[in-house]
Amino acid sequence: MTEIKKNIYPRSSVLFERAIEVIPGGVNSPVRAFRGVGGTPLFIQSARGATITDADGRTYIDYVGSWGPMILGHAHPEVISAIQTAAARGTSYGAPTELEILLAEEVIDAFPSIEKLRLTSSGTEATMSALRVARGFTGRPKIVKFEGCYHGHGDSLLVRAGSGVATLGLPDSPGVLPEVAQSTITVPYNDVAALEHVFDEVGNQIAAVIIEPVVGNMGCVPPRENYLQEVRRITEKQGAVLIFDEVMTGFRVARGGAQELYGIKADLTCLGKIIGGGLPVGAFGGRREIMDVVAPVGPVYQAGTLSGNPLAVTAGLTTLRLLKSLNPYPQLERATARLVEGMTEAAREAGIGVVSNRLGSMFTTFFTSATVYDWTTASRSDRAAFGRFFHAMLDEGVYLAPSQFEAGFVSAAHSDEIIDRTIASARLAFGRV
Ligand SMILES: *Cc1c(COP(=O)(O)O)cnc(C)c1O
Repeated sequence: MTEIKKNIYPRSSVLFERAIEVIPGGVNSPVRAFRGVGGTPLFIQSARGATITDADGRTYIDYVGSWGPMILGHAHPEVISAIQTAAARGTSYGAPTELEILLAEEVIDAFPSIEKLRLTSSGTEATMSALRVARGFTGRPKIVKFEGCYHGHGDSLLVRAGSGVATLGLPDSPGVLPEVAQSTITVPYNDVAALEHVFDEVGNQIAAVIIEPVVGNMGCVPPRENYLQEVRRITEKQGAVLIFDEVMTGFRVARGGAQELYGIKADLTCLGKIIGGGLPVGAFGGRREIMDVVAPVGPVYQAGTLSGNPLAVTAGLTTLRLLKSLNPYPQLERATARLVEGMTEAAREAGIGVVSNRLGSMFTTFFTSATVYDWTTASRSDRAAFGRFFHAMLDEGVYLAPSQFEAGFVSAAHSDEIIDRTIASARLAFGRV
């Protein structure tokens, strides 16, 4: 099999051999290594609209979208031109700029629960900082997270953390101190009673509950009806800070994220991915009284040399402004519904049992026949069958996330024609699973 792949992807194969000599596993983020599906990762040369092109000059319809940020499609001309203009003014100052105010105002306009926010350079930094702030604000030690939810690679959050970790089969990560991991309580997602039970036991020690309101990191798993309302009710009653990790869902499932969709106000919100428009940006923000514990107003330290970087903020701001003016959400909804219906039908025709979850332009086709609503049900999927499907799709010119436990993303550049071509490819690929 490796030999065949070498024939098809000679340049990626050579690059991978060089990369593994100097970079752990040849990649700078583990899921990129194709361990979940086998084979050699593709090295990418360029991307445009709905497609990416690899080092061997093969072009694919892309459903990874850089793992979420590229909601307008790759290399959107207005975003690129804004970055070019900004770059000519210098790439970093280490001093405040008006751009940062504009981005903060744009986010606050979309998220009514956010009164103040701080920019970071990644989603990981945003969630780590939000936890520190929640602990500093409440004076309590513990946090609650949900099985299969991923919140970046901060120590206290690398507990039952979904996709990347699960694909590699690592229960937890060595190097995380037991006393740190012990302050993290994990409960199943979509299970109100389990959360209530934890609060009955140790409610007065819980600083924060952090949640992916719509999960993307065990594959796409939406909340059950009223689930998020219950999470809000329980945390409010016990004085725990409710952190919505909307790094993936912010500006994705709606302009105002899952909070807009479900009509809920989180105490703190974490953002990333889309708000950087493909450059490194993260943010955490929320109620003024909580955010005012952050230095230099309050005592909780948080900082970053490149935080609010003018290039990154420009890419993000341009993206958010385009999202507001173009309002691609109804079209994303239609296109993704069409895609998921077509793929599910193609699987059925091939006699393969799949369950497709979708919310807006996030979707996952699980190779399982029972409803997927949490990590336990997601993990029953047939990963080997997914791996065969993944490679068959690649051969047909469609680039999916190389893991069963990731959400796929549709962008505004995915036209009906591209969606239909994908469905035709899926019909052939399911036939070879
Ligand atoms: C991607 C992601 C993160 C981590 O963001 P990075 O920029 O990769 O550090 C955190 N939370 C969620 C929900 C994510 O999807």
